[in-house]
Amino acid sequence: MTLHIKNVWLQDKGLVDIHTVAGKIKTIGPALPPLANAQTLDANGLAAVSGLVNGHTHAAMSLFRGFGDDMQLMDWLQTRIWPAEAKLNEEDVYWGSRLACLEMIRSGTVAFEDMYWHFHGMARAVEDSGLRAGVGAVMIDIAGEKQGEECRAQAVQYLEESSRYSDRVKFTLTPHAIYTVSAKSLSWTAEFSDKHNLPVHIHLSETPFEVSECLKNHGVRPAVHLDQQGLLTPRTILAHGVCLDDAELDLIAKRGSTIVSNPVSNMKLAVGGAFPYLKAAKRGIPIGLGSDGAASNNSLDMFQEVKTFSLIQKHTNNDPTVLPAADAWRVVTGVDAPLLGQGSGLLKAGENADIVLVRREEPELTPNHDFISNMVYSATGHVVDTVIVAGKILMKNRIIDGEKEIRLEAAARAKKLCEI
Ligand SMILES: [Zn+2]
Repeated sequence: MTLHIKNVWLQDKGLVDIHTVAGKIKTIGPALPPLANAQTLDANGLAAVSGLVNGHTHAAMSLFRGFGDDMQLMDWLQTRIWPAEAKLNEEDVYWGSRLACLEMIRSGTVAFEDMYWHFHGMARAVEDSGLRAGVGAVMIDIAGEKQGEECRAQAVQYLEESSRYSDRVKFTLTPHAIYTVSAKSLSWTAEFSDKHNLPVHIHLSETPFEVSECLKNHGVRPAVHLDQQGLLTPRTILAHGVCLDDAELDLIAKRGSTIVSNPVSNMKLAVGGAFPYLKAAKRGIPIGLGSDGAASNNSLDMFQEVKTFSLIQKHTNNDPTVLPAADAWRVVTGVDAPLLGQGSGLLKAGENADIVLVRREEPELTPNHDFISNMVYSATGHVVDTVIVAGKILMKNRIIDGEKEIRLEAAARAKKLCEI
């Protein structure tokens, strides 16, 4: 499929055309000649930016958006989320994930890292939505060795079955956390990841309680425990990292793992701190940004997330110069964390044709003193007009095929699941 985007505004370049061929950006330049058999997209009034990357979410939890806000974590999990999740089937996960993909497309996200149950429900949703995602079945074996065995066998089976999807669906190992997965299963995950060159996506160091429990049970802090199982590698995505100390950050930097910060979820759940961004960035650790699930955010709009990310870092460091807009924008477009998003996050020839067109003439983007400042501090997902992934248009003029059906089906299923 070839695409000719005409008259689109690019920061530092002004009005240009973009040619995409076979899912890649072929040429960017002023007034390009027509391209044979290309679909033409008139981008008058639109600016092209890199697609946003959501480095940590639980897409199907969109079904539980607003179901039990403002509660203590354990009370919320025990009385709301776990009873509802116990009823989930693969079709629920499919429609919940489709709903999440809809919201992500509408707010300019082109790729995400997911963690949930029912692998095929998630994978089919990603395939059908046109987005890119890292997907795997969550591994939890607190019930004992039999559960561990089942989880490990499931990972082997799903890796095999993942070949039925396109390369936009990237199979990823997703052990839930160090406090829900045994050392045996963590070590197995490390070996399996190494053997098949698979990414690993795990929650780490989200709360002070997790740290104190780890010290009590294993005598070391969370990152050290993970490293002892062989799971701190350049293929590892660590979600949260709120309570990491200096020695843990040194270790993560040495091992080359990526950390994904989730500031809105962390604040909503009052986890008791903020991700030590400055210390992590100083050590050269790849950093990404995530929304976490819609049950604890409650939005998947990464424009809201990147603004919050920058603000919380300024606030906690008591310094308005911390995390300037240009740095925050690199984080949310995945440029600083190559493991996320399946591409470089840059708009240039040879890169993935993952392109977001925003409406330049919206009031919140006026005046245009500093376009990236407008993107980070002023825009919301509502400025997004068109989303292109792998050269295919997923949304144009804010219209997505099948949107109403997805919303209605997801809402009906959410209602049934939450009848407790
Ligand atoms: Zn999470």
